[in-house]
Amino acid sequence: MALNMTVSHILGYPRIGGNRQLKHATEAYWKGDIQRSDLEQVGRELRRDNWQIQREAGLDLVTVGDFAFYDQVLNTSLLLGAVPHRFAAEDEVTRGEVDLDTAFRMARGRAPSGESAAACEMTKYFDTNYHYLVPELHAGQRFRLASTRLFSEVEEALAEGHAVKVVLTGPLSWLWLGKERAGETLDRLSLLDGVLDVYAEVLQRLAALGVEWVQLDEPALALDLPGNWKAAYERAYFRLRAAPVKLLLAVYFGGLGDNLSLALGLPVDGLHVDAVRAPQEVDSLVDRLLPHKVLSVGAIDGRNIWRTDLVEVRERLAAAAQRLGERLWIAPSCSLLHVPVDLESETELDAELKSWLAFARQKLDETVTLARLVSGRVTAEDERLLAASSQAQASRRASQRIHQQQVAERLAGLSEADSQRDSDYIQRAEIQRRVLGLPLFPTTTIGSFPQTTEIRAARRQHKAGTLSDDDYQARMKAEIAEAVRIQEQLGIDMLVHGEAERNDMVEYFGEQLDGYAFTRFGWVQSYGSRCVKPPILYGDVSRPRAMTVAWSAYAQSLTGAPMKGMLTGPVTMLQWAFVRDDQPRSVTCRQIALALRDEVCDLEQAGIRAIQIDEPALREGLPLRRSEWSHYLEWAVEAFRLSASGVTDATQIHTHMCYSEFNDIIDSIAALDADVITIETSRSNMELLDAFGDFDYPNEIGPGVYDIHSPNIPDVDWMVALMEKAAERISLERLWVNPDCGLKTRHWDEVTPALANMVEAARQLRRRH
Ligand code: GLN
Ligand code: ZN
Repeated sequence: MALNMTVSHILGYPRIGGNRQLKHATEAYWKGDIQRSDLEQVGRELRRDNWQIQREAGLDLVTVGDFAFYDQVLNTSLLLGAVPHRFAAEDEVTRGEVDLDTAFRMARGRAPSGESAAACEMTKYFDTNYHYLVPELHAGQRFRLASTRLFSEVEEALAEGHAVKVVLTGPLSWLWLGKERAGETLDRLSLLDGVLDVYAEVLQRLAALGVEWVQLDEPALALDLPGNWKAAYERAYFRLRAAPVKLLLAVYFGGLGDNLSLALGLPVDGLHVDAVRAPQEVDSLVDRLLPHKVLSVGAIDGRNIWRTDLVEVRERLAAAAQRLGERLWIAPSCSLLHVPVDLESETELDAELKSWLAFARQKLDETVTLARLVSGRVTAEDERLLAASSQAQASRRASQRIHQQQVAERLAGLSEADSQRDSDYIQRAEIQRRVLGLPLFPTTTIGSFPQTTEIRAARRQHKAGTLSDDDYQARMKAEIAEAVRIQEQLGIDMLVHGEAERNDMVEYFGEQLDGYAFTRFGWVQSYGSRCVKPPILYGDVSRPRAMTVAWSAYAQSLTGAPMKGMLTGPVTMLQWAFVRDDQPRSVTCRQIALALRDEVCDLEQAGIRAIQIDEPALREGLPLRRSEWSHYLEWAVEAFRLSASGVTDATQIHTHMCYSEFNDIIDSIAALDADVITIETSRSNMELLDAFGDFDYPNEIGPGVYDIHSPNIPDVDWMVALMEKAAERISLERLWVNPDCGLKTRHWDEVTPALANMVEAARQLRRRH
C-alpha cells in the first residue's frame, strides 16, 4: 500500500462534556448561582479539553468553532448579526458585540440580564433529534460581523499550539435553515449577498490569524434543492473563493445525489462527504475530483454508536487511497455532537455489548487508525484496534443475545393478513359503538396525568431499592385509583390509567423488552442545556412477559367505563433509539411491532376494549429525500398495522400524534387504519384539520381542543367553537373531544378545571347536535 500522509480530522465534537458540565454551568448561570466569568471559564475548559483529546488521539487537525453555549446555528446568526429587534437595544443590533445574554434571550426568552421576549423558534436539525434555533429573516435585512467569539476561540487554540481547522455553518445552509417572519413572504436568496459580505470578512480575519482550513457545513446539499438554490451555491462559492483560506465544503446526513456535479464543481479546496449514508457515491467522487482538491471521506458513523468494521472500511477505501494519495482525508460522517461522549464511563454495561460500541471519544481513535490504515503507516496501537474491531464484528455476528431463532421464524412466517384487521372500519365502528356504548362527541385524554413530585420520588426510591416492590405497586395503584376517581367524577367517557408508573414513553417499554440496552451516561444534546439518553437497540426484539396488562386490568377493575390501554408504537420505539446497523431499520421495526402485537392481544384478553398505540415520531422519521418517502412510509405503516391487527373488530384501536401537519402524508395516516386518531390542533384553530377533510379521511378523529403546553385553562365556549369548526370538516359521529397531548407536565390544579370545561363543552355540543 502507498505510504502517504492521510489527514484525519472530525467535523465537530460533543460540547456538553463527559459529565454534562455545560448543562450544569449554563443552568447555574441562568439561576444566578454563578457569574458570567465562571460560565466563560467552564466554556474555555471544555474547549481546551476537547482540543487536547483530539490532539492526543492523533488527529492531524483540531476543530474550532463547534463549541456553543446553546447552539451552533445560533452562533452563526450572532456572527452575522441576525438578532431580531425584540432582543436588543438599537445600538447592540447595529454595532458592537452581541452580548451572551442576548443570545440566551433569543434561545429561551430570558436571561440573567435584559428584558424577556418571545424566544426564537426551535426545530429539528435535518433528520436528527438535535434542535437548532431558527434564524429569523426579513426583507431588506442587514448583516454585519457582530460576534468575535470565534476569533477568540481560534486564538485560544493557537496559543495551545494546535493545528486548527475552523468550522462554520455555510451561508446557504444557514439561509435554508432560516425562516421569514410570520405573515411575510421573502425570497431568502435575496439576502445572500449581505450574508456573503460577512462571511468574506470572517474568512479574511481567520486568515489573518493564520488559519489554513475552514470547513463550511452545507448539509442542505444532501436535500432536494430548488433550481435557484443550486444556482445560488455557485454564486456564493465563486464569491468566497477570493478568501485567502482553504475551504472544505462539508455535506452530511445523506448523499449528494443530483447535487453531486454541482458540489464537485464548486471552487473550493476540498469536499467532505457522508460515506456512511452514501457509500455508493465515493467512487464517482474519486473519479471526478479535480486534481487540486482533497476528498474528506466520512467513513466513521457520526450518527450511531457502533464500532466501525475497520477491515471492511479499509478495503472499501483502498482504491480511493491508491488514487488520491494525500488528497484523501478521513473523518466521521458528521459532527460527533449526535453521539454520547465516552464509552469508558459506562462501567456497568455488559462487557460483550460494550465491545461492540464506540462513542465520540472512541470514534476519534477509529478515525486516526483508519487514516493510518489506508495510508499504510500502521502502528502497534492500530494493529490492536484493528484486531479488536474484527473481534467485535465477529462476536456481534454470532452472538446469541442478538439473534433469536424464534424472532426470525416469526418474521418469516408473516403474511399480509397479519397486518389487516378482520373487517373494514365501517363494520368495526358499528360493532364498537355497540360494545362501548359511547355518546356523540365522546371525551377522552391522551394517556398521562400529572407526574407529581411524589410519583417521581417513589419511582426513584424503587429504582434505588429503598422502596420495596410491594410498596411501589401499592403506591402506583393508589395513583391509578385516584386518577380513575377523578375521571369518573369529571364524567369523562373513555378513561386512562394515567401512566404514573412510566418514566418515559420509550424507556418504559425498552426496559421490558429483550434487545434494548440502556446506558448510564450516554447523554446527547437535544437542545441548549437539555440532553437525552437514547436507548441502544442492539438485538432481536421480543417481549419476555406482559408489560402493561396488570396496570390496565387493575384500572379497568375500578370502573364500568371503558379503560383505554396505552402503548408506544413501533416506529416511535425505533426512532428514539440508537438502532442496530446490521439489518434494515424496517426489519427491526417489524420485530418491535410483533412484540407490541402480543401486548395488544393480551390487553384485549384482559378485558381492555380500547388500546392506544402512540406514534408521535412517525413524521420525523421521514427521509431527507422525497424519493425515499414512500418506501419509509410503507414499512412504517405496515409495522403499525402489524402491532394493531391481532385484535377482533370489537376492540377499538387508537393512535396519537403530537403534531398536525398531515397534508403530505395524509394517505399514509389513513392507511394506518386506526379506529381513532387524536392529534394536536388547538393552537391552529382547527385549520390543520383541512387535510383530513379534503382527503375524506374515513375513520374517527379527536382534534385536540386543549393546549397542554400552556398553563391556561381553556374555557367552554372556546372549546365548543373549536369543535364546531372541526364539525365543518368531519362528520359528527366520527369526532372525539380530547386535549392535544398527554398531561404529565401539567399540575392537577390546571388539569381538573380544564377537563371539567372540556366535558361541559362536549355536553353542550351534544345538546346542539
Ligand atoms: N400517551 C402519552 C402521554 O400521554 C403520549 C405522549 C406523546 O404523545 N408524546 O404522555
Ligand atoms: Zn402527544
